[in-house]
This record gives sequence, C-alpha cells and structure tokens, in this order.
Amino acid sequence: MAKARATRRTLDSFTVKSINKVIRAGDCVLMRPSDSSKPSYVARVETIESDSRGANVRVHVRWYYRPEESIGGRRQFHGSKELFLSDHYDVQSADTIEGKCTVHSFKGYTKLDAVGNDDYFCRFEYNSSTGAFNPDRVAVYCKCEMPYNPDDLMVQCEGCADWFHPNCIDMTPEEARKLEHFYCHNCSSEDKKKLRSSHATSKKTDTKVDTKRRRR
Ligand SMILES: [Zn+2]
Ligand SMILES: [Zn+2]
Repeated sequence: MAKARATRRTLDSFTVKSINKVIRAGDCVLMRPSDSSKPSYVARVETIESDSRGANVRVHVRWYYRPEESIGGRRQFHGSKELFLSDHYDVQSADTIEGKCTVHSFKGYTKLDAVGNDDYFCRFEYNSSTGAFNPDRVAVYCKCEMPYNPDDLMVQCEGCADWFHPNCIDMTPEEARKLEHFYCHNCSSEDKKKLRSSHATSKKTDTKVDTKRRRR
C-alpha cells in the first residue's frame, strides 16, 4: 500500500514571531546563514506552505546572490548593495527568516534619498551554473568604459553628456564637487569649442556632480 503523503497547505502569509513581521509571497527576506560570520542570505519568497495543522512552515525561495558569491566575483562596478537574482531555488524553514528587505530596481535605487540598511538593488539575473548574466551588456560610462556603480561619484560633461570618474580625469573627488562647468577632454578640444559657442550660447546648465546615491 502506498504511504499517505503528508498534506501540505499553501499559506498566503505567515508571521515570523521572532521579528513580528508578516511575510507574503513575493516579499524579499534576509535569512540566517549557517555560518554566522557571513552576511545574511537574501531571497525572494515564492510560496509559503505549512503542514495540515498550520505548523512546520516552509518557504520556497529564489536566492539572490551577492557579487562575491558569483563565479566572476565582485567587480569594481558592482555597488555595495547590489544583488543578482539567481536561478537557484530552494526550500527553507521559515524560522531562518531574520528580517525583511527591499530589492529595488537599479533606477529606483539611484532615486532613493537615503539608502537604508535593508535597501538593495538588482539589475542582473544570474545563471548560477554558467555564471552568465542577463542582460549580458549594460551601458558603460567614462574613459574607463565601466558600467555605472551607484556608489561612485561621477561628473557629467556638458558637451557629450557622458559621465566621468574624477580619478579617470585626473581630479580629486573634492575638486570634482567644486566644478561649476565641466567639458571632457574630447569636448574641450578647440574645434568643438568654436562649434559649441556658435550655436549653444543659451545653453546654461549647471555641471552635474552626483553620486546618484547618497551613502548612509
Ligand atoms: Zn572612469
Ligand atoms: Zn564630453
């Protein structure tokens, strides 16, 4: 005779008593790592289930990876709060949830007035077996042709509108902050200056100096 399978129930929500927070499918959560010296794991809750008595709650999650957990490791353009949405699914006891967090879109993150402890952002999906990213290309900026790291200070050229790292244009961050106008090397060459003054006299834009992101 076949063994009766324990009936599991799907729950719409679940209260994690230790933090007194209601968790719903779709929420992003911090989960206690087995090695307590490591930062919390971050996951998106897909579904929540319990046994037939409503006990023994388990969450089906999709893991976010931190850059250092990816095959390629952390790169210079990765933000301190950057996460990759992986293709790695798992089932965990709901007891390991130790907090809720918010994973913003890249754009949403750059528009935050202040980044809290529980604010993260994600701009890539990550294939945990191949190490590939989706999208596999992103816009690059500056002479160094790097994707944008929202933690980094950059200045915008009033000519070409590209953004530059102060370091890459032989400037200190302090100097960059004090700039009133900035034209990059290409845009400040003589020919282009003439061209610009002939038809852009009314253009009075303040140089944008921006971290795009205020650090907490
Ligand atoms: Zn640069
Ligand atoms: Zn320029």
